Amino acid sequence: MSRVFIGLGSNLNQPVKQIKKAKLAINRLDGVEGIAFSSIYKSRPMGPQDQPDYFNAVMEVAVTIEPLALLDRLQAIEKDQGRVRQDARWGARSLDLDILLYGGKIIENDRLVVPHYGISDRPFVLYPLQEISPSIDIPRLGSLADLIRKCSPDGLLKLGS
Ligand code: ATP
Ligand code: MG
Ligand code: MG
Repeated sequence: MSRVFIGLGSNLNQPVKQIKKAKLAINRLDGVEGIAFSSIYKSRPMGPQDQPDYFNAVMEVAVTIEPLALLDRLQAIEKDQGRVRQDARWGARSLDLDILLYGGKIIENDRLVVPHYGISDRPFVLYPLQEISPSIDIPRLGSLADLIRKCSPDGLLKLGS
């Protein structure tokens, strides 16, 4: 069993609903059991600014399946919820599911890099992660508390439940 943290994001087609629906879909996967779910946070987009605000959350799950099998299942959920892959990086999307951490593993292959490369400087990842697992250490990067100290919330807004 590994403890895995998944980042959820959306800025299209009723983002809050997309995130709540994805949470249920992840909980229903074989070999995946939900442990904790952060609040949903709103922020301005990274990259291209001519797109709607983003909504993000982080979920902690206990998994018994392998990392690439988990990635396959998360990508199937993205597709099921209408994600259309575009050429442009960081364009608008109905759902993005990223594997942030997979236990203490370091993974580097063509399809999967864990810890996720954006973890250390994305407030919409660090702050929800802190909400559900404040004392966690990130392989290679050190404590979450230290990363948070170096990362301004930068307009991040925590929504009520
Ligand atoms: P970013 O990776 O900067 O957050 P993104 O999430 O929009 O951008 P995607 O289009 O969702 O990027 O994914 C592009 C590719 O990233 C996927 O096809 C997947 O194979 C790869 N990838 C590498 N590491 C991870 C990870 N930890 N979680 C999810 N996908 C990953
Ligand atoms: Mg992403
Ligand atoms: Mg992604």
